Amino acid sequence: MAEKRKFKKRFCRYCQQKIDYVDYKDLNQLKFSLSERYKIMPRRLTGNCKRHQELVSASIKRARQAAFIPYVVDRKRVVANPFELIK
Ligand SMILES: [Zn+2]
Repeated sequence: MAEKRKFKKRFCRYCQQKIDYVDYKDLNQLKFSLSERYKIMPRRLTGNCKRHQELVSASIKRARQAAFIPYVVDRKRVVANPFELIK
């Protein structure tokens, strides 16, 4: 196999943690569904259920508008773990 899979098991992290409401201010919740370029990860990679994926994508869009996470990341600023920069 050429590429190692980043996500092994398919389960919804939000269901597992019993999160009913995804807060757009809580980056610890949103980061499960964000790529290193702050893009919304597709459901087929994260394994989120449909209900939570919709909640999360709405909150991520809200968080972008509130400037908690950037819309675009330029090439030089891409790091391995962007969530270390945000506090
Ligand atoms: Zn779920």
